[in-house]
Amino acid sequence: MAGTTDCKSLLPLISLFQSFRLSGSGTENPKGEIIHAVPWCSLDSSVCVRIAMEMNYQSNFKLNKTEKKLLRKQIKARHTLLRHEGIEAVSYATQSLVVANGGLGNSMSRKQLLPVLEKCGLVEALLMPPNKPYSFVRYKTTEESRSAYASLNGKEIVDDLGQKVILYLNFVEKVQWKELGHQVLPPGLTVVEEIISSEDEKMLLEIINWTEDTDNQNFQKSLKHRRVKHFGYEFHYENNNVNKDKPLPEGLPDLCDNFLEKWLAEGYIKHKPDQLTINQYEPGQGIPAHIDTHSAFEDEIVSLSLGSEVVMDFKHPDGIAVQVMLPRRSLLVMRGESRYLWTHGITPRKFDTVETSEHYKSGIITSDIGGLTLRKRGIRTSFTFRKVKHMPCTCNYSLVCDSQRKETSPSFPENDKEASQLEQEYVHRVYEEIAGHFSSTRHTPWPHIVEFLKALPDGSIVADIGCGNGKYLGINKELYTASEVA
Ligand SMILES: [Zn+2]
Repeated sequence: MAGTTDCKSLLPLISLFQSFRLSGSGTENPKGEIIHAVPWCSLDSSVCVRIAMEMNYQSNFKLNKTEKKLLRKQIKARHTLLRHEGIEAVSYATQSLVVANGGLGNSMSRKQLLPVLEKCGLVEALLMPPNKPYSFVRYKTTEESRSAYASLNGKEIVDDLGQKVILYLNFVEKVQWKELGHQVLPPGLTVVEEIISSEDEKMLLEIINWTEDTDNQNFQKSLKHRRVKHFGYEFHYENNNVNKDKPLPEGLPDLCDNFLEKWLAEGYIKHKPDQLTINQYEPGQGIPAHIDTHSAFEDEIVSLSLGSEVVMDFKHPDGIAVQVMLPRRSLLVMRGESRYLWTHGITPRKFDTVETSEHYKSGIITSDIGGLTLRKRGIRTSFTFRKVKHMPCTCNYSLVCDSQRKETSPSFPENDKEASQLEQEYVHRVYEEIAGHFSSTRHTPWPHIVEFLKALPDGSIVADIGCGNGKYLGINKELYTASEVA
């Protein structure tokens, strides 16, 4: 067959593949499902040919409607895994299966999945990569994995949120997934466990009065994603900075002052902070990835986690992502590179992927066979202490430094490096800066669009071009929604 297969005749078919519940990276809809769009151009002719072959296979065997649907979904799962994760399924039986929709990333826990898999045979290993909507299972024998394939493919089971999900299984040669690639903490980051006692935690939580100042919007803001309160200096979300000439009259609460003095004396912190932001997160709430404005605060930023643990996502501009567990009553200290260069944020979800080990507390979440499970989030209150900076920032990370931003107008790039710097400066940095505010002020779907989406027939294909924070993705679950983030 010629290498230049014309894909046009397959367009309606390919468009089916534009909607994905399965992907490692993509847009999360409010249900926590990940939806990803594949650019048309990325479907090469070989994929088109394979899709066509599989669809022929389907028609040849005169399957009934339900079987056809199952096969279509299974093929879709297989192609998504290949496209987005590089996981290649094989068409013959092996000991190992990849279980699409049976992953920590779509709220399936080990506790939930393992018994289901064990009904089909002796499970040698169940590998659940963090935040991925699939897992791998290896059976003792090929007979057992074949039996699992026969009885579990297309089977509906209930996940940890009580939602029904359908599993799609494919054989794989070996259990594999891409490593996170970076298994050390971001430089300059430390987590001090049990820095305060349970009694201190209780006292600190009791000093917050969430009801006062309701008429003064500057003091307490109910951001769509969380409750926020400021001390020392008001923090302005419009420009991610503080008004340095206008400290708040009360300063920091006395109780906090005592702890800060103690931490200074014990060497956990080097500078005494003068600004405090208290955030309260309900399960399912989060904070967009951000770098605290360089010119606003000094190098050291510390955050105390109270009430519940949480997994915080750190990301380097090169794309390296590290997930760090912040246990209850621990102190996160960010200095240097981790404060200036890495973004940090909390993914809005109700469960976190955590290590199953009893001894394990803070630190990086890694994958290993049998080591990960889901834990329900509780209400977490963080006390973030910062020291307001009164001089321009002189850090070594000029690419992300607002004080060192070049004022010269951009010129036409001469090479790839310059083009990439230009993009970083005028596209990525701008989006990073406005993302939090943008997302928190664009939460409510427009009624007419909701009406439109709900009126569409089941199975319709919708492209949401420039979908922002993806607020329309979960409106009508019967649609295939593809989204595009500019
Ligand atoms: Zn800087």
